[in-house]
Amino acid sequence: MLGSPGSEPLRTQGFPEFLDVDALLAGGWKPLAFQQFILKIHSRCDLACRHCYVYEMADQSWREQPRRMADAIADRAVERIAEHATRHDLAEIDIILHGGEPLLAGPELISRVVCGVRGAVDTGTRVNVNIQTNGVRLDEAYLRLFESLEIRVGVSLDGDAEGQDRHRRFADGRGSHALVSESLRRLTAGPHHHLFSGILCTIDVRNDPVRTYKALLEFDPPAIDFLLPHGNWASPPPFREPGSPATPYADWLIQIFDIWYDSPVLQTEIRLFREIMRLLMGSPSRSENIGLSPVRMVVIDTDGSIEQSDTLKSTYHGAPETRLHILRDPLDNALLHPAIVARQMGERALSPTCRGCDLVSTCGGGQYAHRYNPATGFAEPSIYCADLFRLIGYISARCERDVARLRGAG
Ligand code: SF4
Repeated sequence: MLGSPGSEPLRTQGFPEFLDVDALLAGGWKPLAFQQFILKIHSRCDLACRHCYVYEMADQSWREQPRRMADAIADRAVERIAEHATRHDLAEIDIILHGGEPLLAGPELISRVVCGVRGAVDTGTRVNVNIQTNGVRLDEAYLRLFESLEIRVGVSLDGDAEGQDRHRRFADGRGSHALVSESLRRLTAGPHHHLFSGILCTIDVRNDPVRTYKALLEFDPPAIDFLLPHGNWASPPPFREPGSPATPYADWLIQIFDIWYDSPVLQTEIRLFREIMRLLMGSPSRSENIGLSPVRMVVIDTDGSIEQSDTLKSTYHGAPETRLHILRDPLDNALLHPAIVARQMGERALSPTCRGCDLVSTCGGGQYAHRYNPATGFAEPSIYCADLFRLIGYISARCERDVARLRGAG
């Protein structure tokens, strides 16, 4: 029977639509409360990046969204989040202000949401707020606002001018590197540096990895997220041929790993590498991109729809939908949605190939959206399987050599 705990084989046709959540519950499985809330406060963007999964891939639902989250929806979202935090007695929650481009929503709405959540949750719940911006509008006025509201800022940058302007352009074709670099200097060179949470860099294997890494380090980021471009078995990512043993993305990342790992001082955190190393040591993953930890994140879209991860927009039209809405439904209702359950049930949601893989406890089948195959659903290995296997194997071998050397020296 599909989804029942134990050794029953997983039926992969259309997974996870037919997941038997009742059977899971009867078998003792319990959902974990959401801890991270992504609020899409504006649905449009002031850039027209060619690799954007929100606008340029399978799901086109942004076209039906209001441009800006209405105040009444924002207020209800705040109530739903506080209700969830209270019901589950959460000690800490993360609010991620997202879009489109969230700075287009304007300072009033940002203040309304952040002050609203902090005022609505119990005093025992810590509220961390982060905004993920393309950096185009990150001026001094916004930085002062973020200072006063304790909002940390993540900026998307793909490397040097060549790397950034390959994809991250305005609708008229102009590159954004100069403007975003100016914003990053404003954020990092002065008194606001402590607000900087890091850089999100989408990989393009045509960009030189070392030059890309050095260009990002110029802004002294506390962390870098290198993101694999979204793709799946039907729409593979660039330069990733389905089933090919070639590993262009692992080869690209390994060049950066060697510099980062061999540096005598920690230059920055690289989340993907750190998470792989933590997983190899037996610690749980803190990222939805790797490992088997339950995903505890939910999205509230601009119109108030309760949705799954945005990354699913790269798979098929309507993929992130739950058909739940904050005006009708508490966030608890989403906890039993099959697609959300599938991301909290660990190894049991994986394909037989992944479950038989030596690296499954570290890899976890890779990013959920990258497993999609229209014929079977999400119970497939990642389209990046070969790259993940090589990258994890490489990091593991390097760490093991060092541990053996230290033991020998002791
Ligand atoms: S390396 Fe491939 S087979 Fe192994 S867990 Fe990851 S995606 Fe699955």
